[in-house]
Amino acid sequence: MFNGLWKKKVGAHVSASGGVENAPENAFEIGATAFALFTKNQRQWRAKPLTEESILAFRKKCKKYNFEPHLILPHDSYLINLGHPEKAALQKSRDAFFDEMQRCEQLGLDRLNFHPGSHLRKISEEQCLKIIAESINITLEKTKGVTAVIENTAGQGSNVGYSFYHLKKIIDLVDDKSRVGVCIDTCHAFSAGYEIDTADGCEKVFDEFSEIVGFEYLKGMHLNDSKKERGSKVDRHESLGKGTIGSKVFEYIMNDDRFNGIPLILETPNDQIWADEIQLLKNMQK
Ligand SMILES: [Zn+2]
Ligand SMILES: [Zn+2]
Repeated sequence: MFNGLWKKKVGAHVSASGGVENAPENAFEIGATAFALFTKNQRQWRAKPLTEESILAFRKKCKKYNFEPHLILPHDSYLINLGHPEKAALQKSRDAFFDEMQRCEQLGLDRLNFHPGSHLRKISEEQCLKIIAESINITLEKTKGVTAVIENTAGQGSNVGYSFYHLKKIIDLVDDKSRVGVCIDTCHAFSAGYEIDTADGCEKVFDEFSEIVGFEYLKGMHLNDSKKERGSKVDRHESLGKGTIGSKVFEYIMNDDRFNGIPLILETPNDQIWADEIQLLKNMQK
């Protein structure tokens, strides 16, 4: 295993069941050189604080398997809505997000991936994006060293973040630009309408990304095929090459230097073939 020699850092969102300290080994076992994890149960608001023992074990395992902090992309809870239109619910989300950022700090991680939020049809997209930026500002002020990484969405329901312009709008309103970034999920981009199922389309879409957001903000990618058609606005991940996107975008990413050195993470549904999918991606390198 030439861990560290690959310019592309590929992995999957692995299980942290039994404790966060189990995630690095789960990643290593599938041949990953990057990974994602939840640092708490993603479907619950509350979590016990990380124990000293668990934190130390996690750091030790990451060192053992060469997972440097910038190759690990933790994902926050699905319950959090940093753009919530109602005050009490917004506060609950902000508190939970702050807790997630602190957990990352404790684990020595440098970025936290999250879905921007939903307006719940009670406020405009514009207002929602402003609230999200304010949530990020509040959290960054109270934390150190962890970058808030906004993930693009499929635009399902009332989710914002399906357009590169939304990501840009949030970044523009964040005070500390050194600690805000984005993660592009290929399934979400495709479902949102971006034409990434052809080589020409990829060229166009990532040029657009470069112009509107900028690759300097790209802190990770989620590599997923999609079960649904382009523009469906439905977020259903599929294993690589088995969905509606096909392999063009993955070939594109694996051969473009702008995607070097950041976590490229599979969130595909069949964890039994993650090792094969990682190999498939590596084999795409020309
Ligand atoms: Zn996500
Ligand atoms: Zn994703």
